[in-house]
Amino acid sequence: MSRELKCRSCGEPALRPFLSLGNTPLADALVLPERVDEPEGRFPLDVAFCTGCSLVQILEEVPPEQLFVDNYLYFSSFSDELLRHSREHALGLIDQRELGPESLVVELASNDGYLLRNFADKGIAVAGVDPAPDQAEAAEAAGIPTIKEFFGPELARRMRADLGPADVIIANNVMAHVPDLNGFVEGMSLLIADDGLITVENPYVRELIRHCEFDTIYHEHFCYFSCTAVDALVRRHGLFLNHVEFFPDLHGGTLRWHIGPREDVSDVAAQYLDQERRDGLDTFEYFAAFAERVDRIRAGLVDQLRQLRGDGATIAAYGAAAKGSTLLNYMGIGTDLVDFVVDRNVHKQGRLMPGVHIPVRDTSALLEEQPDYVLMLAWNFKDEILSQQAEYRRRGGKFIVPIPNPEIL
Ligand SMILES: [Zn+2]
Repeated sequence: MSRELKCRSCGEPALRPFLSLGNTPLADALVLPERVDEPEGRFPLDVAFCTGCSLVQILEEVPPEQLFVDNYLYFSSFSDELLRHSREHALGLIDQRELGPESLVVELASNDGYLLRNFADKGIAVAGVDPAPDQAEAAEAAGIPTIKEFFGPELARRMRADLGPADVIIANNVMAHVPDLNGFVEGMSLLIADDGLITVENPYVRELIRHCEFDTIYHEHFCYFSCTAVDALVRRHGLFLNHVEFFPDLHGGTLRWHIGPREDVSDVAAQYLDQERRDGLDTFEYFAAFAERVDRIRAGLVDQLRQLRGDGATIAAYGAAAKGSTLLNYMGIGTDLVDFVVDRNVHKQGRLMPGVHIPVRDTSALLEEQPDYVLMLAWNFKDEILSQQAEYRRRGGKFIVPIPNPEIL
């Protein structure tokens, strides 16, 4: 059901839609082969800009229980790059914040505990929060205490009473998933120590637009953040955006926002806010032409795949993640064009991609079948995948990278 056109952050009825990706199934809801005949839920996927606070957001709201508990098969530990990035983040924080056994580090959406493990190994007290049962269980098994609930003010108060204030709160790739954005930030403001640090990572909406990463838009991602939007959001809860780091190769361009209860804005943070104003990220016009560009990519890629297929080529795809599902469903690419999708995540293998029902297999299928082309759906892990698939390429296999323009490697 479509909610009233009110902004998730500022609450103003100031949303202007700029892109529609049609009616798509939930991007993480892989289908079991024995249930292929059952109807799948489809929901409109429309994106809007808030002229009140600059937050980009989708208009549809699917209940979070349906999105992240029943169907959620994402385990962070399946990516080597992500593990390395997390380890560096943790070790940097331990060093800069002089964390020790008396410190408390809290991670929101702690998944299988891959990040907190770095702190726990050094004897630092940690607490994970993650409502996804399988991931939380994996974390517990690895010795990471995990609260299996959605985070908000009520849980934050309970945690502060039980554990004390948090010296560090980490929220990586979760803020976009939160239906009650203000409740989430309020919770962080209640839990953080007076001199504490909150780091929040999320893909940068500027990169989404620049590189036409439309496939990162799906129902699980309610919001797409700029520094301007984050600044307005956290200030509403007595917090300040004090510093910004940029990781160009992570998930298509990720920002790490340093947020705290004390205002101490770095030159870098001020420059980001200033640059966004100059580039117009606080205006609708910045987003207005995006839909046309997305449609051009669709036409180009579908033509290319049809032509290759017409010439007798075999085509597979790499990456059964949500962005792959978004791209395949938006473009209408099914088993007529792509024979199978491979993924390292064993939980996904043997299932079918949502909507288009392309089967998911183990990555070893690329060498077994040696398809002529592999459509790189997980382009955010491009370098990692290319090096893992050196043998497939040595034997003549080629990758098609769809974003920002279809390219053959
Ligand atoms: Zn707003």
